[in-house]
Amino acid sequence: MTEDSAGVFDLVVLGGGSGGYAAALRASGLGLSVALIEKAEVGGTCLHRGCIPTKALLHAGAVADSARGASQFGVQAVFDGIDMPGVAAYKDGVVSQLYRGLQSTLRARKVHLVEGEGRLVSPTAIAVGDTVYTGRHLLLATGSVPKSLPGLAIDGARVISSDQALALAHVPASVVVLGGGVIGCEFASVWKSFGAEVTIVEALPHLVPAEDEDSSKLLERAFRRRGIKFELGSRFAGVESTESGVRVRTENGKDLHAEVLLVAVGRAPVSAGLGYESVGVQLDRGYVKVDSYCLTSVPTISAVGDLIPTLQLAHVGFAEGILVAERLAGLDPAPIDYDGVPRVTYSQPEVASVGLTEAVAKERYGADEVVTLRHSLVSNGKSKILKTAGEVKLVQRKDGPVVGIHMVGDRIGELIGEAQLVFNWEALPSDVAQLIHAHPSQTEALGEAHLALTGKPLHSHD
Ligand SMILES: Cc1cc2nc3c(=O)[nH]c(=O)nc-3n(C[C@H](O)[C@H](O)[C@H](O)COP(=O)(O)OP(=O)(O)OC[C@H]3O[C@@H](n4cnc5c(N)ncnc54)[C@H](O)[C@@H]3O)c2cc1C
Repeated sequence: MTEDSAGVFDLVVLGGGSGGYAAALRASGLGLSVALIEKAEVGGTCLHRGCIPTKALLHAGAVADSARGASQFGVQAVFDGIDMPGVAAYKDGVVSQLYRGLQSTLRARKVHLVEGEGRLVSPTAIAVGDTVYTGRHLLLATGSVPKSLPGLAIDGARVISSDQALALAHVPASVVVLGGGVIGCEFASVWKSFGAEVTIVEALPHLVPAEDEDSSKLLERAFRRRGIKFELGSRFAGVESTESGVRVRTENGKDLHAEVLLVAVGRAPVSAGLGYESVGVQLDRGYVKVDSYCLTSVPTISAVGDLIPTLQLAHVGFAEGILVAERLAGLDPAPIDYDGVPRVTYSQPEVASVGLTEAVAKERYGADEVVTLRHSLVSNGKSKILKTAGEVKLVQRKDGPVVGIHMVGDRIGELIGEAQLVFNWEALPSDVAQLIHAHPSQTEALGEAHLALTGKPLHSHD
């Protein structure tokens, strides 16, 4: 659909990343006329600098590890090293195919794509240069960029962000990763697989600190076995250039030398200088404030994705974009239950979860009202075949549904599809225990954990 005779669109979207383009596609599918303004490339962070390129690197790393470890499966293979131009060609090939596909989908759905940098100029208008695009509704989806710490300048050479890490033309001999969250752990995993010496510096007491503590500890154990070093409870104090790279100092007196420092301390919303506040959109620490329907303080303006203070994940952006499109089209979508969003760290091993951690469940319901069960992958045939260790942990509300599922292991992220159904359909352990899981598969571990929680363990014991 195109704009009306007065040149007014039903919806003008600022930012063509996961949140913005999902809203544009759903809105046009519902018959609304949509303009999508993007200053760089549609697909945004996820497609060009986030989810997709990092997962391609992680897969290349897994192939390298398989080649290195082939003899333990009785296969003769020689690992000759990493050809970074080859890895980059593979990664970029995946990205460009998906990029072309997205461009053609947007064209086919008649989304009016505007290339340029937009700026909010009124509650119903966004300017790109001298051209003003007017919409009955506007959607802000300008996303996020890597952030740093006060006094820590990212120079793009020795001190880099994830953007530059993805474009490195060689494998650094050694890396210090500042930040042990999802992005930091994924890069640590890739670089170790590629042969670098890796040390993670994390200020909090555990890696992936937002995850259940048991998952963090299992990841730490696995990383230790892989030779990935980490300094936990260690705050960054400073960095200096040296002849061969950088010297990183921590407040507790550690001195770490490496070729590069990756700064992975989080992402900041892109909201400054875009006219948001002058039009009346309220911000909080740079994030756009929204209600549970992603509506801002201005009734004609919505906001989604990394720009708002919800989980910074591509599939959250998709869901929020779809929610806004459906609301504007007059449907009656339900607000998002953010506890039910699946979360996966694609390191080796993977960490996957949905619902509440044990600590949050105890805080919410009281310690006596929460039951937990940890089921090791040690008795799972498929995990044994893959030579991976880990576990499935269930958090149950006493005599009630499963309110948290936490998993660690190679390939375990694939189990999150079933886990999120268990959580989001508020299944009782007995509902899941009666489902038959294919043998031999890692999904059996999920099934057996529920069997054990209902007092009918099969392969596990205390
Ligand atoms: C290294 C890394 C790995 C990640 N891995 C995962 C993962 O595995 N799974 C997952 O779910 N999430 C992952 N994420 C997070 C995910 O990429 C983001 O949550 C998601 O991209 C956010 O989408 P968005 O639409 O809010 O913002 P963005 O994707 O950042 O898109 C915003 C868009 O707006 C455009 N823009 C900004 N300002 C303007 C302007 N003034 N005018 C016009 N255009 C503008 C930008 O160019 C950009 O294209 C990862 C992120 C990183 C950095």
